[in-house]
Amino acid sequence: MHHVDRNSGILNPEEKLSPAERRAYQEKFLGEVVELAYTSGTPLKQTFDDTGLKPQDIRTLEDLQKFPILHKKDLSAAQKVRPPFGGFLTVPISTLARIHQSPGPIYDPVGRIPDYWRWKTATYAAGFRPGDLVVNTFAYHLTPAGHMIEEGLLELGATVIPTGVGNTETQVEIIKNLGVTGYVGTPSFLMAIFKRAEDMGINVAKEFKLEIGFLLAEMLPPSLRNRFVDEYHLIGRQAYGTADVGCVSYECSAISGMHVHYDVIVEICDPATGEVLPTGEPGEVVVTTNNRIYPLVRFGTGDLSSIVDEPCACGRNAPRLSRIMGRVDQLTKVKGMFVHPSQVDKVLASHSEIARARLLVERSHDQDVMTLQVELKGPAAEGLVKAVEQTVKEVLKLKGAVRILEPGTIPADSKTIEDVRKWD
Ligand SMILES: [Zn+2]
Repeated sequence: MHHVDRNSGILNPEEKLSPAERRAYQEKFLGEVVELAYTSGTPLKQTFDDTGLKPQDIRTLEDLQKFPILHKKDLSAAQKVRPPFGGFLTVPISTLARIHQSPGPIYDPVGRIPDYWRWKTATYAAGFRPGDLVVNTFAYHLTPAGHMIEEGLLELGATVIPTGVGNTETQVEIIKNLGVTGYVGTPSFLMAIFKRAEDMGINVAKEFKLEIGFLLAEMLPPSLRNRFVDEYHLIGRQAYGTADVGCVSYECSAISGMHVHYDVIVEICDPATGEVLPTGEPGEVVVTTNNRIYPLVRFGTGDLSSIVDEPCACGRNAPRLSRIMGRVDQLTKVKGMFVHPSQVDKVLASHSEIARARLLVERSHDQDVMTLQVELKGPAAEGLVKAVEQTVKEVLKLKGAVRILEPGTIPADSKTIEDVRKWD
């Protein structure tokens, strides 16, 4: 597999649709999916009846906003009332290929169709090619991750070794002995495999044939991605999906965000009001997929991201999701603005003098008061407090004071954002 071009080429013509063509493609399947959800008597039929809407009222992407967002907790509750799938399944259970269970608990049905979860396109864009020999280190039991990615790779023409979670030494032996070229799993587990290999006396860059990593389910900081390239000669690419809806978006060789799959409609919504936000603003990722077996319309993933809608060097025209910024339930509202732990991390990343920090949110004289408490690695340089306060203002769009504390003052179990406001 040496000298394989992992960067150029686009697998599906649908990835190159112009914005107008893409809209037409998505509005066509949207109409069909809601019609099917209606006639099959899924809970969406009830929503139609409650609001007096008919399937023919849903014609454009904007019409989706006539429906409420289906949150994970709503899906879990619906499945308890109407087990096992909350009434969302449109086919007999006996026709399914598999049933997974993801945390919630939520049961996830898998239809008996090739690449049901849409990962094939994503793995190609990420750099996998037919003929790759791939270790898949995601779990193959209960949660769908292992089977999901495997199906995409098989459809692509790659060969999969289902190694699952753990067994680091065995993974090292398999990668070396079989000349494995691809890895699927978390970035941290890949690094653990490399470290173990080095402990076993293996020169990873020379003795491993690993060239491509599909690094999912965790943050991939640029520094770690660069280490994979520089030290281990491995391309690491990311994608985003969930247990309930499968692949949502994927990186290309331009590494400038994750292109939204053509069979997925993404809306970015205000976590408080549910309103669709203008392009570029961060909010909850809400998805509607072209799935006729289990049509979830406006499924709220609980993940935070924003849309980038600019041309991409790779030639794909689909809009992109920027990185996943975290979970909606980690958001704190301060002075009417959402603040997320990842923003605090971004402030800290600009000031290497800071050893530890937390953002304290208090209430004083009916006002929110925000203070970034920091412990430093060394003595405080002149102007540091002012500089950090400026970064806080830039990143959080809010004014906050910065206080330097003695090392060891911030409790070990403290959260990144500590909200101590009392509302009595
Ligand atoms: Zn691209």
